[in-house]
Amino acid sequence: MDENTLPSDLAARPRSQEGGVPVPFACEHEDGGFGLREVSKRRAIRCALSRICGLCGISLGWPVAFLGSPEEVDDNALHFPPVHEACADAALSLYPALGAGVLAIDGPPDAWVLLTTGGAQSYHEVGYRPGDVLLGGRESAGVPDEVHASAELRVRVPMVAGRRALNLVTALAIVLGEALRQTGGFPS
Ligand SMILES: [Zn+2]
Repeated sequence: MDENTLPSDLAARPRSQEGGVPVPFACEHEDGGFGLREVSKRRAIRCALSRICGLCGISLGWPVAFLGSPEEVDDNALHFPPVHEACADAALSLYPALGAGVLAIDGPPDAWVLLTTGGAQSYHEVGYRPGDVLLGGRESAGVPDEVHASAELRVRVPMVAGRRALNLVTALAIVLGEALRQTGGFPS
């Protein structure tokens, strides 16, 4: 992501020596120390109580975005506090580029799989890997063009012509089911 397109509050955060990326608010300790791969418990609590963004540390409005791995979604336990949509968009290109576990993801995603009505491939005709991260945008507007362009896989749920589109959660659930089936993600 271009430095000039970073949300200004995120751009103003202290920088990590590793990759020069902004240190997420939720990863900073009260003494100023931080670890990009850990969420500070105190900061997570502050985010929850004060409704502030885990990335830029500024008040949240609506809507909010959540960042996490498929495993966290399965467990219904997301570790990273909610963030602004713009901060989440920035994080998708900033932090995976470090190539290591950041934002409570154990390793870099194998692929960002974007669910989109503009997807070239039907969701059941592609191969998923265990480290893939599923991504969906706003139902009204989808995702920004640069996110669309940077996703390794773009998939769609085929629809009968003329029918109303599925809502995002339903469509994601369909794709997630197929991805879990292919990767042996269901408990036996
Ligand atoms: Zn933010």
